[in-house]
Amino acid sequence: MFNAIRVIPKVSTMAAINPHHLGARAAHIDGRLKGKVAVITASTDGIGYAIAQRLGKEGASVVVSSRKEKNVQKAVESLRNDGITVEGVICHVCNAEQRKKLFEVAYNKFGGLDILVSNAAVNPGVSPVLETEESVWDKIFEVNLKCSWLIAKEAYPLFIKRGGGNIVFVSSIAGYQPMEPLGPYSVSKTALLGLTKAIANEVIHNNIRVNGVAPGIVATKFASAITTSEVIKEKTLSIVPMKRFGKPSEIASTVAFLVSDDASYITGETIVAAGGTYAHL
Ligand code: NAP
Repeated sequence: MFNAIRVIPKVSTMAAINPHHLGARAAHIDGRLKGKVAVITASTDGIGYAIAQRLGKEGASVVVSSRKEKNVQKAVESLRNDGITVEGVICHVCNAEQRKKLFEVAYNKFGGLDILVSNAAVNPGVSPVLETEESVWDKIFEVNLKCSWLIAKEAYPLFIKRGGGNIVFVSSIAGYQPMEPLGPYSVSKTALLGLTKAIANEVIHNNIRVNGVAPGIVATKFASAITTSEVIKEKTLSIVPMKRFGKPSEIASTVAFLVSDDASYITGETIVAAGGTYAHL
């Protein structure tokens, strides 16, 4: 019994594991998504960009997008330099015309749609739930939940045309345990867990799988208030068994798994990628 316990790596050893070493292990999945077409929202920076890069490196043609033209141009250039087949679209996820353009580009340039990653989210204000302004609540739920639903609804006919596909919603560890003071944002991310399950059941007969990923704190601009302040950083990491923040590439590899045939028996699930942080509803 004691021998069995001894083989579990200590926290200090786990923290020392370099995620970039996964590159060598990733070699065998080169081409896993060959021939697939992926649309990823909010993908010119952070986690969305890493997802586009990873899906592209695995062989998918990708459509990247975000609100600002210069960000779209920069991301497209950088992904092309990486040898990825990519087109860029300016798309604020709450703009119906711009969302339509995402699918037009996927269809006209790459022939259809196989993968949708709904990654866009906002958090315009921090406040406890009961002290949140109604306008802030509405904005969070419009972008994080309503537009995730809308984009999935609009992608649906393209998946049917293709004979199947994959949707991934980017939720958050905060969706399992509300993070103070990100109350309304956390609730919107909990709702995505429900959206994932509801849509998954409805489209299972169409050969469409619907899953989610719930990242822990990942070092991006979005989380910079947490990752750059020593005090907040220490407090936040106290609940992360791996004692470090996540990397965008670690969320991207989870998404790549979910949309690949390696996850062919998984639907309606959300995978928590949060360094061991306790996650239970
Ligand atoms: P980020 O690094 O700040 O990147 C945000 C990206 O979204 C940028 O490309 C931005 O480009 C684009 N964007 C922002 N608002 C948009 C909108 N309304 N429509 C379309 N694009 C928009 O953020 P991130 O940390 O990667 O977050 C990505 C997702 O992960 C979000 O759903 C977030 O909730 C989730 N998440 C993040 C963490 C974390 O710790 N970072 C943890 C859990 C979950 P433009 O400015 O050009 O629009």
